[in-house]
Amino acid sequence: MKLLIPGPVTTHPDVRAAMAVDIAPWDNEVRPVFARIRTRLLALGGGVPATHAALPIQGSGHFGMEAALRSLLRPGERILIPMTGAYADRMARLARAAGREPVPLAASPTEPVDPETVRAALADPSIALVGLVQSETSSGIVNDLVAIGAAVRDAGRRLLVDAVSAFGALPLDLGAQPEIAAAVFTPNKCLEGMPGIAVALVRRDAMPAPGTAGSWCFDLADVLEHSEKRGWGTFRFTPPVQTLNALAVALDRLDAEGRVGRLARYTANAATLRAGMQALGLRPILDARHQGPIVSNIAAPTDAGWDLQRFVDALKRRGYLISNFYDTETPSFRVGTIGVLDRSDFEGFAAAVGETLAELGIGRRSAA
Ligand SMILES: *Cc1c(COP(=O)(O)O)cnc(C)c1O
Repeated sequence: MKLLIPGPVTTHPDVRAAMAVDIAPWDNEVRPVFARIRTRLLALGGGVPATHAALPIQGSGHFGMEAALRSLLRPGERILIPMTGAYADRMARLARAAGREPVPLAASPTEPVDPETVRAALADPSIALVGLVQSETSSGIVNDLVAIGAAVRDAGRRLLVDAVSAFGALPLDLGAQPEIAAAVFTPNKCLEGMPGIAVALVRRDAMPAPGTAGSWCFDLADVLEHSEKRGWGTFRFTPPVQTLNALAVALDRLDAEGRVGRLARYTANAATLRAGMQALGLRPILDARHQGPIVSNIAAPTDAGWDLQRFVDALKRRGYLISNFYDTETPSFRVGTIGVLDRSDFEGFAAAVGETLAELGIGRRSAA
């Protein structure tokens, strides 16, 4: 089965094979492997060990975002969040539930965030931090991290980046963007690894004293202190050891392909998908110039017989699994273009969509 979803993604057999082992996390042969993963991730994000650190937290991406919000903001502090879609909503909810105050900034669901709106909003001196979703998975739009970061830096503030659906393919350079206090991601999206852990690449000078988080589990400052005292191959609590072993293999594969090569492959995947859907009379939700390489939303056919779950089930019988929900304002179906997939998979997918629409008797395909 090919997973055409924005994570967890289709993985390479070597990555899956690395899961099939028993591991003790404190084993002296294992610790250097885990420490090296952190060094490699930091380098991939353009961080330097004197200034930055790679801090893992057990759990999924939301756990990493909660840890970053709790650790970078004191209780009651305010975070400006451009409301790009579902993942910005989630960042705001995580902040509020943790007793920090989200300040929503209106943003379009079909266009990237305008850096000037961020610049203007930062005239408010009560805002401590800006939270940006680099690649908004609900819309498929990639925001301009460099331009928005410049607006944040000019205003003397710092930036928290949700890089969960970006890291490993889209550029991130902590060294060139000192305003980035932290960037959070997981192994199971563009890194093409397995789920189970989140990683925050942080600036050391943005870390408060341990305890600020108001939670031991979610305290990145405590993770940093622990790493420095006990070693970078150690964890405070049991980590997902098989996921870490798989991540080491996934990083070897990324080294071989290169981040730029990976981004080019995903970009070709998205272009092939778009052309294939348009050839079937289906309309992508976004303008081509705003479409990112990670995930695409295609407007649902206007045919009265359209039923997303039936469509998903019929595609699954042909070997392709897509999401059975959508996050756009109007009905759509969404297709992820990341993971171990290339353009031939999206040519095959387009053929399968054509067969499926015929099988389901969907004649009217697009209103536009
Ligand atoms: C996937 C994703 C997350 C985290 O999701 P989890 O299910 O908690 O791993 C966060 N932000 C974005 C933009 C994502 O795509």
